[in-house]
Amino acid sequence: MSDINTIVEHLVEARRAYYGSGHAIMTDEEYDSLENLLKNQDPDNPFFETVGHPVSSAWEKADHSIFMGSLEKVNTEEEFLKWVSRFDKSILLCAQLKLDGLSLSLDYVDSLFDKGITRGNGTTGENISDNVVLMKGFRAKAMVPAMEILTDMADHGMIDEMKPSEYPGILSDCTIRAELLLNKADFAKINMSLPEKDRYANPRNAAAGISRRLDGKFCKYLQIVAYDINRPLDEPTKINVLKKLGFYTPVQYVGNIEGIIKNFEDIKKSRDKLLYDIDGVVVKAASYEIQKAMGITRNKPKGQKAWKFEPPGAATIFIREEWDVGRTGVVTPLAHLEPVEIEGSVIRKATLHNVAEIKRLGIGRGDTVMLVKRGDIIPKIIAVLSRAGKPVEIPVDCPSCGRKLDNDGTTLRCTHDDCARKNFFRILNWIKVAEIDTFGESLAEGLYDLGRLCCIADLYRLTESDISSVEGWGAKSAKKIIENINKTKKMSSEKFLCALGIPTISESTSEELLKVFETIDNLMKQSVDTIKELKGFSDISANKIVEGLSKNKQEIDLLLTMISLKSEDIQGILKNLSFCFTGAMEHPRHYYQKIVTQQGGTNKTSVVNGLTYLICNEDRGSSKSVKAEKYGVKVITEKEFLEMAGSIEPEAENPEPEKLVEECGSLFDEE
Ligand SMILES: [Zn+2]
Repeated sequence: MSDINTIVEHLVEARRAYYGSGHAIMTDEEYDSLENLLKNQDPDNPFFETVGHPVSSAWEKADHSIFMGSLEKVNTEEEFLKWVSRFDKSILLCAQLKLDGLSLSLDYVDSLFDKGITRGNGTTGENISDNVVLMKGFRAKAMVPAMEILTDMADHGMIDEMKPSEYPGILSDCTIRAELLLNKADFAKINMSLPEKDRYANPRNAAAGISRRLDGKFCKYLQIVAYDINRPLDEPTKINVLKKLGFYTPVQYVGNIEGIIKNFEDIKKSRDKLLYDIDGVVVKAASYEIQKAMGITRNKPKGQKAWKFEPPGAATIFIREEWDVGRTGVVTPLAHLEPVEIEGSVIRKATLHNVAEIKRLGIGRGDTVMLVKRGDIIPKIIAVLSRAGKPVEIPVDCPSCGRKLDNDGTTLRCTHDDCARKNFFRILNWIKVAEIDTFGESLAEGLYDLGRLCCIADLYRLTESDISSVEGWGAKSAKKIIENINKTKKMSSEKFLCALGIPTISESTSEELLKVFETIDNLMKQSVDTIKELKGFSDISANKIVEGLSKNKQEIDLLLTMISLKSEDIQGILKNLSFCFTGAMEHPRHYYQKIVTQQGGTNKTSVVNGLTYLICNEDRGSSKSVKAEKYGVKVITEKEFLEMAGSIEPEAENPEPEKLVEECGSLFDEE
């Protein structure tokens, strides 16, 4: 059914994009789905003999002393059982978290760090030593504990006597295999600091990109986790040796076949709670002798398997496209599909994202496509497997108002303010943000079709008879709806501003804007220049805000005659005071910041002129306390702050991430 060459093309393209720039064109799971499909249809395809990517970068090339292969995968319990069936039933296996990062080889000569090399094509990689030394978990020295190794070897009858002098290599030179990871929180932080076009798709891509940056920036956030050392040792001993050398190691479970299956299920359930991404479990025969006997085929050790979380995907037929105008005027393509079941739910539609994605896929009606979905993620078409029709045509006119669309090559947009569909979405946004209870999308559609709801202000002109004229709505529920609408005739300025649905004005930007400009009236008088001076507002967003407000001025004026604004004035003991926290404290920083917000104070992330307090437990002398002195900011300790705040605990919200990690066990074992 599918064209094998097309699948290989997609895979090669995805690999190139990922390794070339660190900016992937599909997620890891999407990649795996495709790879599985190829495995099912053509298990001996030469594609499987290649690993990684050809080396081409500004970094110096370096050869691996030992070929750096990859692992063969299994995706289901059935495949796993098939693999273990070749062992004795009583075999001892070990399972390590399959960390979703970038593979790295660390060479030590005479116990000292010599170089750190990326996987590359397995034979040659890039020598990124300059960056490796900046990373978390880096060890400059690796003095392999000889006695431990010799004891283990003697225990297994590999040597008769423990004479360290006969095994000098054991003591000094070694190659350690590790994974480079970026935790989810640092990933988010780094991404936020980058311009939108440079942002990474996921922590693994970010780790790949950052580890090869020439300026070493962000490398301090990367974590080295070691999982292998080139010594003839059983797996559990290897991990112990690595720990003794001071490395972080992956959590390891050792047990029989049933135990490994249970462990896999447990980990699968808790994976989203971990601070780092994992994509499965690496299962190895615990015994070195067994692994050695099984050997290596096509660069892959037969005594080890990567048991990956099953990527839920399926092949189906693309019937037709549908273009829909969104709230901001962006016109997005939706795919109608031959219904197909994934993870228990039947899927009929999927997103095609934008024009660029349609071009990349070259999708046409009747084509067989690969579809993936996991959890709450909207189903997505990741590849065309076989072609039937001519490629989808990109519309020139707006499907709603029929006027010319703006096409920048990636995004299609209707720029006409009075486009009916755009307005409809703005009305829906208002209903949602203003929290008009029980007013759903179907009622809005009904009123829109009857011509009674064409702009936001129409909501406040609706009568009970308007509502009961919509099919399925009686007098009683109509009365309730009008009551609910009336309840929103009083709202905070922040809510009002956000509900307008002006591009870039979200709940938090609306709060920030009004914190500075206080009233909607005053905000409307501001220029692009004054807004872009605010922290976190770019040229582009300042422009959009000013433009959006002026375009909608008439509507805003009209709405202000219908709605009265109340200011959300928080009374608290920290009112009119500002705080900046620095250095180590008992709780995470957001704990204290929450107290500040709840007590009416303001948080600052840096020491600025006018700041009231810097909270710092450590000895003075940090750059922040020097700055505080310069501006005459008062420096107090955590204890003093809590006393000032009346020792108030912040109201509980979501469990802190630290707790979640504890619940399912930490990712690393550290000696
Ligand atoms: Zn339009």
